[in-house]
Amino acid sequence: MSRHSQEDHTAGQLRVLQSLSRGRLLSRVVRWLTDTHGRGGRSILDSSLDIIAGDRSSVSVTSLVGALMLRGILEMGTRAFGGSLADIRENLSNVLFRRALSSVITGLVDFGPQRPFTPGAPFQVVWNVTRTCNLRCKHCYENAGRRGRDELDTEQALRAIDIMADEGVVFLAFSGGEPTLRPDILTLIRRAADRGMYVAAATNGTTFADRERVRRFKEAGLSFAQISLDGVNAETHDSFRGVPGAFARTIEGIKNCVAEGLFVEIAMTVTHYNLHEVPKAIELAERLGARWFMIYNFVPIGRGAEIADADLTPSEREELLRLLWDRISSKSDPGAMEVLTTAPQLGRVPLEAARDSTLPGCQTGEMIFPTHFSNARLPSQMTRLSEFIGGCGAGRFYLAMEPNGDLYPCVFFPHTPEVRIGNILHDDLHKIWRQSGVLRMLRDKDLLKDHCGSCENRYVCGGCRARAIQYFGDLLAPDPGCKYNAAAWNALRTGEMLAVTGLGIQRTVSH
Ligand code: SF4
Ligand code: SF4
Repeated sequence: MSRHSQEDHTAGQLRVLQSLSRGRLLSRVVRWLTDTHGRGGRSILDSSLDIIAGDRSSVSVTSLVGALMLRGILEMGTRAFGGSLADIRENLSNVLFRRALSSVITGLVDFGPQRPFTPGAPFQVVWNVTRTCNLRCKHCYENAGRRGRDELDTEQALRAIDIMADEGVVFLAFSGGEPTLRPDILTLIRRAADRGMYVAAATNGTTFADRERVRRFKEAGLSFAQISLDGVNAETHDSFRGVPGAFARTIEGIKNCVAEGLFVEIAMTVTHYNLHEVPKAIELAERLGARWFMIYNFVPIGRGAEIADADLTPSEREELLRLLWDRISSKSDPGAMEVLTTAPQLGRVPLEAARDSTLPGCQTGEMIFPTHFSNARLPSQMTRLSEFIGGCGAGRFYLAMEPNGDLYPCVFFPHTPEVRIGNILHDDLHKIWRQSGVLRMLRDKDLLKDHCGSCENRYVCGGCRARAIQYFGDLLAPDPGCKYNAAAWNALRTGEMLAVTGLGIQRTVSH
């Protein structure tokens, strides 16, 4: 599809979404579906989705009428993106998919058809549930070690989980510190799973060297284990993690999680310390049976600020993205491990590949659009969907929560009052999500500065906002890790940019 016809197509998709959300009759119908509550306090929207999925347990006259209207609306929406109701009906049997779709529909009504799109509630909350940790990682964003004095107690933590579940959060990831060391963690996992959320833990994996422990976590409702591995041998990993023997226990932990049938993601934070080990790390992750291999973009925050010099240059990052793209675009076995990254710039790589047919990945009639959480293969008329899903999800798809319940747009944001958006127990999450000035700013990619602001890829990427704020003290600044922002990177390196802004980290980046 040519670029012009793709743009026409996107405009058509936007028009359909606009008529769905702004057309008076349609918007009234959708508003009625989302605002009216039936049996057990569930919205008519949720019980109508149950009915379309074939689940009749909450059927009533109102929900039947709702299901009828909703079916028409879904047909219109899916057709605009080249799909059909049949495509999504298959997935509707999955409760999590229904929860996510309900959030998409609510977001369409409450926020309109923006590029990128904002759902009715955060899809995912990453909760740094404790500051306790048994390792001393060089790049720890949380500066973890000892338990914090203000951490929520069990009763408060359970209340926080209920608030998130009522609001429609789909994924809850317990992180830290080391979340598995929190004494009541199984109680919290159980409550989150019972309340219908998909439960993940981001762990250093060492405590999972005990297989019986993994079994207990799984029984409590843990579905997903994200395990950090920063090198392919003890020398690299242990020196990065600050404790000898960590590598061996982490590998054991990964094997146990795979053996117990958890969805295992191996996460590698790439810096100058381990860049050269990436290809071998991908091979190792595959051999260990991981389902995802996630390259974490380094953000120099917490203890990471002390090793800011280890950040990749824009050209090193570009080379890494190309290496990942080669791997993603040449994957032939759909069941094989997915390679992903939190660097939002990956979102522009397939679009650039489509513009330049000498690059791999665009010769097959279908295109791949990579995001943090999936490398979906879609027919070319659907690839512009990536502009709605977008790149950086801070404050749009995700929120982060601190051990005391304070909320931030992303775990990599500094803990400053300017970007703290509230507290789960003291403020209203529903209102925060709709009214926070910080979140509104993050959702509008047209506000971005310098090259990020004029970049044709800003809807699919937008740069990592955590890196922008950490380097420049400005939410809207350019992400200096991108090839298009090499001037900003060079200015940081020479100190010019710090002189201009007077903000950012207190040292310049050097090679
Ligand atoms: S300039 Fe900004 S928006 Fe464009 S690709 Fe680079 S980081 Fe992403
Ligand atoms: S700021 Fe955005 S791109 Fe950066 S880590 Fe957070 S969600 Fe990801």
